[in-house]
Amino acid sequence: MYEIWNECLAMIRENVPAGSYSTWFEPIRPVDYRNGLLTIQVPSDFFYEYLETHFIKVIKATIRKVLGPEGKLEYSIMMDNDSNRPVVVKQPSVDRTNTKNPPKQIQIDFDRPETVIPNPFVLPGIKKINIESNLNENYCMENFVVGECNRVAYEAGLAVAKNPGRTSFNPMFVFSPTGMGKTHICQAIGLETKKYHPELTVLYVNAEQFLMQFQASCRNNSSKSSRDDFVHFYQMIDVLIIDDIQFLSGKPKTQDTLFHIFNHLQQTGKQLVFTSDKPPAEIKDMEQRLISRFKWGLSAEMSLPDVETRRNILKRKAYNEGVELPEEVVDYIAENIKTNVREMEGFLISLIAQSSLNKKSITISLAKQMVERFVNNANREITISYIINTVCEEMGTSQADFFTKSRKRNIVQARQLSMYFSKKYTKAPLTSIGEQCGGKDHATVIHALKTVANLLDTDKQFKAVADNIERALQ
Ligand code: ADP
Ligand code: MG
Repeated sequence: MYEIWNECLAMIRENVPAGSYSTWFEPIRPVDYRNGLLTIQVPSDFFYEYLETHFIKVIKATIRKVLGPEGKLEYSIMMDNDSNRPVVVKQPSVDRTNTKNPPKQIQIDFDRPETVIPNPFVLPGIKKINIESNLNENYCMENFVVGECNRVAYEAGLAVAKNPGRTSFNPMFVFSPTGMGKTHICQAIGLETKKYHPELTVLYVNAEQFLMQFQASCRNNSSKSSRDDFVHFYQMIDVLIIDDIQFLSGKPKTQDTLFHIFNHLQQTGKQLVFTSDKPPAEIKDMEQRLISRFKWGLSAEMSLPDVETRRNILKRKAYNEGVELPEEVVDYIAENIKTNVREMEGFLISLIAQSSLNKKSITISLAKQMVERFVNNANREITISYIINTVCEEMGTSQADFFTKSRKRNIVQARQLSMYFSKKYTKAPLTSIGEQCGGKDHATVIHALKTVANLLDTDKQFKAVADNIERALQ
């Protein structure tokens, strides 16, 4: 089995770009081979979808060559940790690159309803009503710089825009800490969808607006019908994008209404896109059935871009502003402002403003002066999430792992150090430090503080790491 798969890999490697090979093929494991049927395990549904849309020709040719004309391939898709059991999907590859209606995607969640219930209230044709999409042209795909930190969200976003409601990324759920590009990418999905499908009704709404509209519809005198109007309005949308869904936490009525809208749209093949500052399972006070639906499709995390991507983002912004930035200034900013993209962008704008006000050109020394001021300012209010960012970056751990229940040593230490520095540099109470550092309780924080203090005294290597982090924080 391994030999066969290795043979396949060798052939694939020659036929796809090196980057694609390592991203999409190396993580695949062969799991079974009998009677001409090779089963390979892919890490997620997204992987499967991606392989099928991008590499199907190569895969088919390879299978034919290595296994013979009767050879068959089957994917086994690793499911979310919830169920912990991989699900084998018996689905022979078909060339879907030219198909208008791709075959219905594999089931991920078993309680997912299959029946299509037409909405009795919406008449055919009513969609022609012109609904303002609330999209900002600047947040387009072309202005979105892609790096490892956001590639999954970007690629999935493109796929969704081309085939809204028809991919398995439905809903598409994007999460990241603040300032990492969630609003940008989900707006870009809306804009891109309109490009491919001008006939579709796309709506972007922030969850806060959604909440306020809903509350207003409840306050209205003829409350029942006004609430119905609210629901019907949302049920008319083809691509519904709700940004910052965490705003609905602790709002059971709005959640309930969203649940019904969600079901209706899903069942009628419409696309949903959500963003949040946390993965679905970690949103507090959110109905379980909604969380389970958020997990139906694809959850894509975005994290802080690496230096190279930060550089590219700066160049793109400068270009859009019509300003030329010397390389060394780009480097300097990218290396020194690493809280999030929004701050980096904010800094660039103030730099441009400063230089035009004083009629000075943008030089490295101007940038340095301003970084000092800017970073000092930022220093006065170090936040817990900034600390977590810095710790993860310095320790080379991913934020995704940080917020899981993983007990791996380096991850536990990253959490403990984050708690330690949060205690040292913020005024936050221990309970809220614990909550933000992966949902830990007060006792865990106290234990972490003791452990770190101990290790600082006894473990030189640990102390060196902690010192580095502390320097980076300042
Ligand atoms: P979030 O919604 O996650 O808080 P935003 O989408 O508002 O973040 O992003 C903050 C700013 O950073 C926006 O101006 C956005 O255009 C910019 N930005 C973030 N990521 C990227 C990226 N990958 N490419 C270009 N600009 C980006
Ligand atoms: Mg946002």
